[in-house]
Amino acid sequence: MTMPERPRLEYNKDSARLLSKVSINAATSCWEWTGHLDISGYGKIRVSGKSRQAHRILWGMMYGGIPSGGACLMHRCDNPKCVNPTHLKIGDHLANMRDMVAKGRQARGSSNGRARLNESDVEAIRAMTRTGRWQIREIGRMFGVDEVTIHHANIGKSWAHLPGANKKVQNV
Ligand SMILES: [Zn+2]
Repeated sequence: MTMPERPRLEYNKDSARLLSKVSINAATSCWEWTGHLDISGYGKIRVSGKSRQAHRILWGMMYGGIPSGGACLMHRCDNPKCVNPTHLKIGDHLANMRDMVAKGRQARGSSNGRARLNESDVEAIRAMTRTGRWQIREIGRMFGVDEVTIHHANIGKSWAHLPGANKKVQNV
């Protein structure tokens, strides 16, 4: 996919309303959303009666469309409420998960090189397993743990107190 070199603003009836909810951070050049945020910290806005993610709408306004087919927009600036389209890049869901996991690892800091899971990792692992899109080995690589650790977290042998374990697993 080729993207235009320079962002192009398309003014329509929504653009003034959108831009009125943006506060530009001079230090980071982030366009920080001052309206509602969803639970993940992304800006939310109603467009044509539907609640949408503000950064996707802004991207669409600038580049003339929102990528589809599993593509998602990732924040280069790690600031979820930022809606500056030049701070976003297209990534697939897998890349996005890897990115999130890698950042979580750095933030937590794994001293011995073998990271341990936390509750949100386990939720993500169970959700990812349910999609059937990834092998346990792949998930293990993403989270920096071995397959057995993933398998046990997935079926509820570990982290049994968390809901959502996938009891029926054929492989491993
Ligand atoms: Zn930003």
